[in-house]
Amino acid sequence: MSKTARQSLKSASISVRGIVQGVGFRPFVYGLAVKHNLKGWVYNTSEDVKIEVEGAAEDIRQFEQELGTKAPPLAQIENVTIEYHSPRGYKNFEIRQSQVQEGKYQLISPDVATCQACLGELLNPEDRRYRYPFTNCTNCGPRFTIIEDMPYDRPKTTMRHFQMCPQCQAEYDNPLDRRFHAQPNACPQCGPQVQLVDNQGSLVTPILSGSNPIAAAGRFLKEGKIVAIKGLGGFLLACDATNDTVVKTLRQRKKRSSKPFAIMVATVGEAKRHCYVSPEEENLLTSPQSPIVLMRWREDSSVSREVAPNLRFLGVMLPYTPLHHILLRDTGQPLVMTSGNLSEEPIARDNDEALRRLAGIADYFLIHNRDIYSRYDDSVAIVERGTSQLIRRARSYAPYPIRLSFKTRQVLGCGAEEKNTFCLTKDNYAFLSQHIGDMENMETLEHFDSTISLYKRLFHIQPEIIAHDLHPDYLATKYARELGESGIKLIPVQHHHAHIASCLADNGLESPVIGVAFDGTGMGADGNIWGGEFLVADYRHFRRAGHLEYLPLPGGAAAIKRPYRTAIGYILTLLGENALNQDLPAMREADDTEIEVIKRQIERRINSPLSSSMGRLFDAISALLGIRSEIDYEGQAAVELEMAALASYGEEPSSVIARSVSDEAISGNNESYPYRIVEDEGIRIVRLRDLLSAVIEDLHQGISKGTISVKFHNTVAQMINEMCHLIANETGVSQVALSGGVFQNRLLLKKTVSLLENSDFQVFTHRQVPCNDGGISLGQAVIANFAV
Ligand SMILES: [Zn+2]
Ligand SMILES: [Zn+2]
Repeated sequence: MSKTARQSLKSASISVRGIVQGVGFRPFVYGLAVKHNLKGWVYNTSEDVKIEVEGAAEDIRQFEQELGTKAPPLAQIENVTIEYHSPRGYKNFEIRQSQVQEGKYQLISPDVATCQACLGELLNPEDRRYRYPFTNCTNCGPRFTIIEDMPYDRPKTTMRHFQMCPQCQAEYDNPLDRRFHAQPNACPQCGPQVQLVDNQGSLVTPILSGSNPIAAAGRFLKEGKIVAIKGLGGFLLACDATNDTVVKTLRQRKKRSSKPFAIMVATVGEAKRHCYVSPEEENLLTSPQSPIVLMRWREDSSVSREVAPNLRFLGVMLPYTPLHHILLRDTGQPLVMTSGNLSEEPIARDNDEALRRLAGIADYFLIHNRDIYSRYDDSVAIVERGTSQLIRRARSYAPYPIRLSFKTRQVLGCGAEEKNTFCLTKDNYAFLSQHIGDMENMETLEHFDSTISLYKRLFHIQPEIIAHDLHPDYLATKYARELGESGIKLIPVQHHHAHIASCLADNGLESPVIGVAFDGTGMGADGNIWGGEFLVADYRHFRRAGHLEYLPLPGGAAAIKRPYRTAIGYILTLLGENALNQDLPAMREADDTEIEVIKRQIERRINSPLSSSMGRLFDAISALLGIRSEIDYEGQAAVELEMAALASYGEEPSSVIARSVSDEAISGNNESYPYRIVEDEGIRIVRLRDLLSAVIEDLHQGISKGTISVKFHNTVAQMINEMCHLIANETGVSQVALSGGVFQNRLLLKKTVSLLENSDFQVFTHRQVPCNDGGISLGQAVIANFAV
């Protein structure tokens, strides 16, 4: 070695934080060091990966650069620190023993869809893992769902029951192998196995099934049977999505009469036969997360309309485990894939639990002996304006945290009643849980409680503050109050303030915004039901700057279930008793007795809560037009109202490719209805009488439902724009955050954002965190952090 070369020898100590364990990071570092002739070592600790490299300065520079740019696909680097010092004279580069430190934590990788290399092996008859349904590597496979505790090592996962065979062990020990330290590594000789049983739990005999349980399940599916399939985070119920009869049977048995199901198809090419798939949607479908993507459903798709009755969007996902890949290829049909549960219970997880709970639904069960530790539903996403937005955040996203723009206290946000998630915060992270479900039964509450315990354990969080909704009857609120009895500080957070704070955190924003929070129901600070709110808000404060006028919901929950009651209540209150004598679709739903009851409830204010909810206004218009008078799932009346508007655009398929709702189409009809904004004690109230009577007038004129729906959507977008102008003039705030379940309405979202941006507002919408109540717990936690 020349003198100059020796002088340029350098040494660097590097610490890398983020998701850098269990994702092939150390072998990657090893390979990179060898490539650049560097000596030293790499090892995992409880909070980071530590690296020491020494060699030529230029080689170290290259190494540092490629550490970030060439990292394995699943690595998520949060932070890198580098210190330089004089060389220590290492002879080679080695991977050293992991070091466990007390009290430290690290981020945990979510489960990841099967990678291309593993898929290649799975489909190759010459490979030893041909058709092996548990094939995985450091770039793919189960993670979070099998982890019982940290650090992430096989004995702390549900794979500990399986002893690796010599071949698998050799892969596991070889730093240059794709399966180096892949904790779930397995093969047909040593790993988990599948079995096919009937709904009594009896093994389907080999004669009946052929030699292969997956092939047999595929045959039963083609014959129109319902099969419960154990997946990553629980059981999914599958059936042939092109078979009307079996889809209807599944609906009857699952007690779910019209809420849409998702389907799984074998390839992107297949997805394109059923939906219009934009390049962004294709990227999302084939990403390591592989969520369900809601896309425009093709008229010529062979998927039964029973899969998503009355809807023009279809939820589609690609296979994300080897088992799904084999099954979908064997079946050759799109399959319905819906959570293995009855109605709103949590997804079934264990074999015997599934047999107990799903025996009345599924004809057969494709089970296996790798245990699931965490229940994990499929995530749901949409692509709007070229960016993806999560509607349900679970598989492959949680427990990866939302990065906050500030350092936070340790807080638990308990979330809302529907679509519950909870959120635990620490350092710069908000660990938003996977979708837990509707908190309506003890099973879901138990799932909520045990998942909180798991997150506390994995991320070493001991909350000092508990944040909860104002609604006293939410199970999540009761849970918080019980914890409060032990002396821990409780912070109640208003529902719509939490929505807006969640949108701020989702966008890394701290300055005050005009927050438009539109949803169905949220307890207001004045005890009424809010839901059509214009707030001026940041994390610390909110002021209610405006809202839809208060109107009665005759019968409370009964009005939510039967939107025609809401419509009748609105007509009675805004237009008077005589208006009830008109021949309107909503009036035909109620007989004279029910109308009398509604009148009495409203006049005497009996069980007739006041609401400013935008969700209820959508319900009322939907019922008024005769589109949906009774609902079977939350949001149904509003969704079908949106579908009527979309249908009226009469889009040619060619114009909607790459777009969910074409831009030309939405700019077509700009007509709208009148409304009035009045000021009452500093709060602006949107009065709806003119709107309601104009809609009724259009109905009498024979204007189509679709056109009325378009005009109604235009009106709501204008209302938002006008209110934001008024509030901006008064406060000087020009940033607008949109949150709440109503903004899952893509037509409304598109129209609103377009109007606001044309008015030079800076608009923030949700991205990683659901705009619906699934995102509330994040808002609760950040507000509570600043409230103390
Ligand atoms: Zn793989
Ligand atoms: Zn093996």
